[in-house]
Order: sequence, then structure tokens, then C-alpha cells
Amino acid sequence: MSNPFDVIIIGSGPAGYVCAIRCAQLGLSTAVIEQSSGVNNQPLLGGTCLNVGCIPSKALLDSSQRYADATGHLSEHGIGVGEVTLDIAGMMARKEKIVSQLTGGVSGLLKHNGVTVITGAAMLMSGREVAVTSGEGEVAHYTADHVVLAAGSEPAAIPPAPIDGERVVDSTGALCFDAVPERLGVIGAGVIGLELGSVWARLGAEVVMLEAMDQFLPNMDEQIAAESAKIFAKQGLDIRLGARVTGAEVDADGVSVSYTHQDSSVTERFDRLIVAVGRTPRTEGLFSADSGVTVDERGFVFVNDYCATEAPGVYAIGDIVRGPMLAHKGSEEGVMVAERIHGKAAQLNYEVIPSIIYTHPEVAGVGKTEQELKSEGVEYKAGTFPFAAIGRAQASGETDGLVKILSDAESDQILGAHVVGPSAADLVQQIVIAIEMAASTEDLQLMVFGHPTMSEAVHEAALAVDGRAIHMVNRAKR
Ligand code: FAD
Ligand code: AMP
Repeated sequence: MSNPFDVIIIGSGPAGYVCAIRCAQLGLSTAVIEQSSGVNNQPLLGGTCLNVGCIPSKALLDSSQRYADATGHLSEHGIGVGEVTLDIAGMMARKEKIVSQLTGGVSGLLKHNGVTVITGAAMLMSGREVAVTSGEGEVAHYTADHVVLAAGSEPAAIPPAPIDGERVVDSTGALCFDAVPERLGVIGAGVIGLELGSVWARLGAEVVMLEAMDQFLPNMDEQIAAESAKIFAKQGLDIRLGARVTGAEVDADGVSVSYTHQDSSVTERFDRLIVAVGRTPRTEGLFSADSGVTVDERGFVFVNDYCATEAPGVYAIGDIVRGPMLAHKGSEEGVMVAERIHGKAAQLNYEVIPSIIYTHPEVAGVGKTEQELKSEGVEYKAGTFPFAAIGRAQASGETDGLVKILSDAESDQILGAHVVGPSAADLVQQIVIAIEMAASTEDLQLMVFGHPTMSEAVHEAALAVDGRAIHMVNRAKR
């Protein structure tokens, strides 16, 4: 047994490394254990988010959007670019460079905060003892007053479409194709499927998305989901709802995918297939049976509202626990746990976590959706405003979409906001601030929004809640 720490954190993703930095800032002696390693056996920090998730996907989304602009939209601005070429290897190299800059940044931050980084696969035993197996198979044991499990998640698999890493890939494989597939199938029209499908569609692939559910983006506000579906269809994304994949046969030239659709069986040929059917918590081998840690019925580590597990002194944060599988949710849980270990009564407002789909345009939302308010019997007011009536959106040629704001019918307090359109993620973040400050739509109505900006759509939607929008004809005027 060696090195008793105040806190040991298992996993260096956005949940684990942020928790480690905050623990160290609070003066706690802190270690992070990470099983992935890269060159010279150096730990590969940053987890899914930095290595194979948020960051590389956004790098490719931004590169592919620039290609789409160059091959299409720039001419609308009166700009001719001649022949546009595509260098996939160059695009991938740029993505890798961004990833290594950011993972290197995390390494530097941990070092400068005095966090000890240990490479190896960790398992929590009883009594907050942690066994760490190195790549060479050596086992070291550490103890700590507090242990934080932040082991994250991995792509979910489905039996009909096993991953072969060539023709059939998961999200990680889809971030490093070496050529644009002519015809690309995507199983699952959720957040990850839509983002990766968009990347390859913009680069020239014919993309067909097969989604088992009949409803598109069921967790988003229904009006925003319906508007998004229309915009994606206009862009040429072929999204087939009610299409449940039952098999995928790989051969020398491609993959034949069978699925059921409206009581009939259909088979489609693709060059490649992305399986994007969700993610599962990475709990296997993470804790021993006598560690005291338990899992819930869906396989997530069981925690209370403050991320404490059933084992004394053991916490769990990020994708391995309930709640949305989002980097910012895990990071804020990491901060909350660090503060609580330090003795502060920190908490996290799970009601106000923004969710974003980084398509073009973006789709984003926070707080209650209209269908949730209806099912909860809450009396509410709604205001919507289309980007087509926003000067800046016209100037940018980004007129698709709308902003929607929901508020309590009596108190006018803002309960939710949902956007599909340009800068949706940043506009929804304005409403995150508003909700946290308990603002009403009247507060937003009285604020001055810069002109011409996309955020004027937020102002107008807030005005529209009371039939007072200026740049459209309101149904009910007040
Ligand atoms: P992870 O990031 O998965 O990190 C866990 C770490 O723990 C890993 O490094 C792993 O190697 C290590 N580990 C696991 N077990 C052990 C063990 N036993 N011992 C030692 N180390 C261990 N989220 C967003 O908010 N915005 C986005 O735009 C976004 N885009 C995404 C795009 C894609 C393609 C994918 C796949 C995900 C995306 N996500 C996004 C989700 C986001 O990546 C995750 O929510 C986030 O990474 C979870 O953080 P985490 O720290 O809980 O786990
Ligand atoms: P998300 O959880 O947002 O990443 O979305 C994953 C999507 O994959 C969900 O909408 C699921 O309905 C969908 N899905 C899961 N299994 C299948 C399947 N066999 N065929 C088609 N879609 C599926």
C-alpha cells in the first residue's frame, strides 16, 4: 500500500480532470488514474470528450462546413472559389493536432495544480483501496479518504450490427475514415448520429439514417424537433423513422443492412455503416463486489443528488451516473463533488443543463419542453420568433429556424427555451443565465439587445410571449 491521498479520481475525462483540478485548488492532495496511454506510455488524458468525442467531432463538423460553404454557399455571397479539393488526410491531421494540443493542456493543468497522474486500469476494492494494473500487468495499491469514480462511457453495441472497425464502425471509427464513403448508413438518428452523418454528408456522402423510433429527437421540444427535421431533409439528410435494423452483412464491397419499416422488411447497400445507438456506462471491472458501490436498473452507478454512492467516501460523476451524457454535466458534477469533499454544501441544478446538437444550424434547448409542461399540467405561455425576420440572419444567409421561449402563465418566470438556428448553442446559454437568475420574459423584454445580432431573436421571442414582438405580426397584440 502506498501514497495515501485525500482524493483518488478514476478516469481523466471532463468529469475526472475537472474534479481533480478543483480538489487541488482546495488544497486536497489528489491523484488521477487513467488507463489509456499514448506515446512512451504517457497517460492519454481528457477521456472521450477530448480524444474521440466533443472535440474531434467539432473539428470535423467545422472543417466539413467550410468545405460545404466553399462548394455551395459561398457563391450566394458572390464569391467564386474555382475548383475545391478535399484532403481528408489533412483534415484528419488538423483534428489530431487540436486533440493533442488540448490533451497536452490538461496534462499541464494537472501538473501545475500538483495533481499526481497514475497510468493504469483502476479497480476500487473495499475500504477505499484502489488496485491499479499497469500496461505490463504490475499491480499497485493506493488508498484515499475519498474516491471519485469517473470512468465514463463507451459506444453501445447492438447484436444485429457488430463493429468490425472497417465497414461497420462506432463513433470513434467514424471520426477517422480515410475517404468519403459514397453511400453511408447511420444507425440511430440521435445526437451523435446526426453530427457524424452531417460531417460525411457535407463532404459528399449520400447519407441514410435509420432510426428505430417513430419520433424524431423525442427529448427535444416537439416544435423544434419538427422544424429541425424539415431543415435536415432540405439539406439532403435522408432520415428514416420507424426503421429498426435487424441485420448487417459485410462482404468485399460493402455492407447490406436489413431493417423493418412499416411492417415490411427492407435491405439497403452501403459502403460503410456507423452504429450510433447511444452509449453505455463503463462499469465493468471498475469496482469489486465488496466495494459497497451499487448500480441502478440501467447499469449506471447508483448515486444520490450529490453524486455520493452507497459506499462511504465514494462518489461517482459524469457518464457513469444518471442524467444526460454530456461533458459539461460531468464537469460540474466534478466541481460539486470536490466542494463537498472540502466540506461545502455545493449542489448542481440538474433542471438547467443545456443540450446541443452541433448540426448546421445547431439545435439546442434548456429547461422544460412544451410537451413536458403540458404533461405536468403547468399553465404556461409560449413565444416564438423566426430567424427569417432577423436582419443579421438575412445578412448571413442563415434564415432557417426559430427561437422559442416558455414561461409560467402566472409568474412569467422563464421555464425553458429551445432553438434551432444560427448560434443556437450560444443563444440558449443566454437563457441558462436567465433561468438561473430567476428571470421572467418581462426581464428579457426590458433588456437592450445589440443590433444586428442573432440574439435579437431571443429578445423578440420573449416579446412574442406577450404578443409584443416588433418585427412580426403577433397573433394576440398587447
Ligand atoms: P469519459 O470522457 O468517457 O472519460 C472517462 C475516462 O476514464 C477515460 O479516459 C477512460 O479511459 C478512463 N477510465 C475508464 N475506466 C477506467 C479504469 N478502470 N481505470 C482508469 N481509467 C479508466 N458531450 C458534450 O457535452 N458536447 C458534445 O459536443 C459532445 N460530443 C460528443 C461527440 C461524440 C462523437 C461522442 C462519442 C461523445 C460526445 N459527447 C459530447 C459526450 C461526452 O464526450 C461525454 O459526455 C464525456 O466525455 C463524459 O465524460 P466523463 O469524464 O464522464 O467520461
Ligand atoms: P442517442 O441515444 O441520442 O445517441 O440515440 C441513439 C438512437 O439509436 C436512439 O434514437 C435509438 O432509438 C436508436 N436505435 C437503437 N437501436 C436501433 C436499431 N436497431 N435500429 C435503428 N435505430 C436504433
